[in-house]
Amino acid sequence: MASDTFDLVVIGSGPGGYVAAIRAAQLGMKTAIVEKDATLGGTCLNVGCIPSKALLETTHLLEQTQKDLGRHGIRVGEVQFDLAKILKRKDDVVRQLTGGVAFLMKKNGIEVIQGLARLSQPGEVMVGDRSVATKRILIASGSVPVSLPGVELGGTRVVTSTEALSFSEVPKHLVMIGAGVIGLELGSVWRRLGAKVTVLETLERILPGIDGEVATAAQRLFERQGMKFTLGARVTSAIAAGDHAVVTFTEKSGEAKTLEGDRCLVAVGRRAFTEGLGAKELGLAVDAKGRLAVDEHFQTNVPGIFAIGDVIAGPMLAHKASEEGVAAVERMAGLAAHVTYEAIPNVVYTAPEIASVGKTEEELHESGVAYRKGSFPFAPLGRAKALGHPDGFVKLLADQKTDRLLGAHVIGWHAGDLIAELAVAMELGSSAEDLARSSHAHPTMAEAIKEAALAADGRAIHGA
Ligand code: NAD
Repeated sequence: MASDTFDLVVIGSGPGGYVAAIRAAQLGMKTAIVEKDATLGGTCLNVGCIPSKALLETTHLLEQTQKDLGRHGIRVGEVQFDLAKILKRKDDVVRQLTGGVAFLMKKNGIEVIQGLARLSQPGEVMVGDRSVATKRILIASGSVPVSLPGVELGGTRVVTSTEALSFSEVPKHLVMIGAGVIGLELGSVWRRLGAKVTVLETLERILPGIDGEVATAAQRLFERQGMKFTLGARVTSAIAAGDHAVVTFTEKSGEAKTLEGDRCLVAVGRRAFTEGLGAKELGLAVDAKGRLAVDEHFQTNVPGIFAIGDVIAGPMLAHKASEEGVAAVERMAGLAAHVTYEAIPNVVYTAPEIASVGKTEEELHESGVAYRKGSFPFAPLGRAKALGHPDGFVKLLADQKTDRLLGAHVIGWHAGDLIAELAVAMELGSSAEDLARSSHAHPTMAEAIKEAALAADGRAIHGA
């Protein structure tokens, strides 16, 4: 092969693609990364995880100032906010991080090629008119929001999460379609800024995939904060009408209803993004949901072409894509690498946060696995009381016979940080007893984990 042939060309620079490219460079591969957008970082950094977390943090501070400080005896005057400045700060955070990825590409000697990549044949990627020769190709092209029949996206009234990160004014009434992660996170942002938020959800519960008991507790807390939910609502259309969005849906009773808001956010899931890639022309196999099918080496049915992240099966999570990217590249290099899927945590960044790893109670029921359950609320903990954040609990599920941890679920203050310990426990195949015997600093919220582990054996110390 010519000397300008790459060892690996990565398509897509999200947390799957750019992390894989860095690992490839570390392993001595001559690597290039192709990105269609002007900045690196993909959905997560540009219009997903990072900007939403920036807005969640700002609006959480606002709500704490308005509602919580008084309880601590802190008096503040009239609390105001400047939306333009909030949005600018969010954009600055994004800029710093996408710039950071560009720096990392340079530092690791990875060539960045801007443009839409097309697979022409194994060993060649076309970017515009440029032919890029490569021994291997790794597709990390990610996902895009899906819509619904009758829902007319495209304008400024009926929008996806991308536009809802940058509304130039606070909606008076934001109608959300879908009570999944995006709906609850962005719904929280705009509710805290003063919008009335109504969530239409087709299922009889919120947050599908999250443990049912946790989802029920979460819904109660979100309702207490002022979010309205209509469950069992089948949306039939959402259209812009002047400065309004008009949403029609069928209630579970069968009655047709109309809801008007000044904005409607459609957050009903995402699908693999393969437009313009030429995957079909090259005969790449896909599954029933249009995701690229791969084997245990993340290789598609075409030798030399690999895929990871949202464009293949599994949870659409940045860190899952990164793990797969590293594992795929290490396997290309002949190293032993694997992804422990059951140990991949999942966090919803609402207040309180919701975090989980492993199996839900419903999944264990369904698969007929005998388990023991240990739960412990945050309310009695000294730290929770001192913080003034008593809501929520830890719930651990352990194998009835072996005591091995099968699932862990947390709803509460900084649950997203607490889950790290439980993800490591899952990765290491720990038992509930291991957690119960590990010293947890006092006073911390993590003590609820130790107590829940003790509760799985009926011996929580501070149990009511
Ligand atoms: P989701 O799958 O989490 O939730 C979509 C919701 O829409 C579901 O509750 C579903 O039942 C509902 N729905 C579907 N059709 C409907 C209809 N016709 N009417 C009303 N409701 C309907 O999807 P999402 O919130 O759009 O998020 C997309 C992806 O992005 C998810 O896979 C998620 O993992 C990822 N994401 C993750 C995070 C995070 O980890 N914090 C944040 C944002 C997004």
